[in-house]
This record gives sequence, structure tokens and C-alpha cells, in this order.
Amino acid sequence: MAKNADYQRIENPFAAPGHDHSSCIVSALDGAEATCARRGERLTPLRRQVLELVWRGHRPVGAYDLLALLQDERGRVAPPTIYRALEFLCDQGLVHRLDSLQAFIGCGHPGSHDEEHHHAAHFLICQECGLAVEMRDGQLDGAINGLAGRAGFTIADETVEISGLCAECQG
Ligand SMILES: [Zn+2]
Ligand SMILES: [Zn+2]
Ligand SMILES: [Zn+2]
Repeated sequence: MAKNADYQRIENPFAAPGHDHSSCIVSALDGAEATCARRGERLTPLRRQVLELVWRGHRPVGAYDLLALLQDERGRVAPPTIYRALEFLCDQGLVHRLDSLQAFIGCGHPGSHDEEHHHAAHFLICQECGLAVEMRDGQLDGAINGLAGRAGFTIADETVEISGLCAECQG
């Protein structure tokens, strides 16, 4: 069984269904606290709670589902509350928005976006089981930055969403 942050480091994260997900949540929240502290940003209890809800699993969650989950825990919450919290979390690179699904997923590499001017995020998304895995590949980053550089192009947003079937779901 893969453990905790190993989930992000193992060769094929799709193949880790039995991993200890509670450690994923703990390391995501610890990472978020550290990232915010370093930047002088505040991870308020509400923002933290929304991040925790996003991290319930490795499947992207829509804003309305998050709102319902938050209301289960907090009672009535106005929709803008969740949108503002998500906006903050996305701005900090702690959560990524997947446009193809209109949904949100926790960043698998909190803090690693620090060295970048933008939040480059490359996802493999399974259309069958809904798992979305953020891949980190230095060569891919280099290729994209090189392409943009040669075009004199400044990247503002770089979320690549590749959809298909994971190995498990092809079987
Ligand atoms: Zn996990
Ligand atoms: Zn990320
Ligand atoms: Zn799948």
C-alpha cells in the first residue's frame, strides 16, 4: 500500500487506490499552511475547511457539490463564500480548476509552483472513474516554456487537461 505523499511520487498514481488517503489530506493541509505562511497569506478556518473538502478524494469536485458539503458542516452558507475561498485557493496554487469538468482538485505538489511565474499544471483525467492525476515532468515544462519563449509569449495560465481512460478502467 502506498503511503501519503508517496501518492504523488509513485510512477503511476492511478494504481494506488488503496493508499492511505488520510495522510494525503494531512500533508496537503500542512503544505497549504506552510505555503500561506511563507507568502504572508492567511489560510483562514473557512479556506482551510474548503481545501479539506476539495481533498476528500482525487476526483475533481464542482463548486455546488462543495457548497453542499460545506453546508453539511456549517449550516447555511452563501454561494459567494465558497467561490471566494476557491478563488483564493486557486490563486495560491493550492487548488486547480479543471475547465473541462468545471470542477476543482487539490494541487498534488503544493509549494512546487513557487518557483514558477504561473501555475503550470498537467492533468491526466480518467473519463470512467473520474480520477484526475497531476503529473510533473521537467521535460514537458521545458518544452512548453521553450515554445512560449521562442514565440515571445508570456504564459499566464497553464492548465493542461488530458482526458482518457486509466489502465484500471481499460481492463
Ligand atoms: Zn490520497
Ligand atoms: Zn499543482
Ligand atoms: Zn479510471
